[in-house]
Amino acid sequence: MRYDPWRDLAENWPEVDVRIEPMDGRLLGELRYPTIRLRAGTSAAQRRCTLAHEIVHLERGVDDCGAWAAREELLVQREVARRLITTDDLRSAVRALGPDADRRRLATLLEVDGETLDLRLSLLTDAERRRLHGEATAAA
Ligand SMILES: [Zn+2]
Repeated sequence: MRYDPWRDLAENWPEVDVRIEPMDGRLLGELRYPTIRLRAGTSAAQRRCTLAHEIVHLERGVDDCGAWAAREELLVQREVARRLITTDDLRSAVRALGPDADRRRLATLLEVDGETLDLRLSLLTDAERRRLHGEATAAA
């Protein structure tokens, strides 16, 4: 079953309060335990990615998240990309859309934002890439 950060939050972090509200600058989310703020006016896919991001911080024992922690950020972003887009998800999406599917349609089908999709694709091993290519060729 596809990872659902909203269900994860309800089940494992019931004390955490999520607020969807206007935010300063270009910030998409902010964690200040026990509150997570998500930027209003973003897409459901964007909020899904941002919420997953803040949950990974919580799991790692990080209670607040900001731009100062570059190493923590990179680690969290990679974990989010792997968690939201499993290899199986990616394979079925590529199978469904064909080898030349554009990135936006792929992201929509996977319910993620473009950045998360790009990062996930960049994390593929050569073996995974070959398997994906095989799926796409079989679908064509
Ligand atoms: Zn963060």
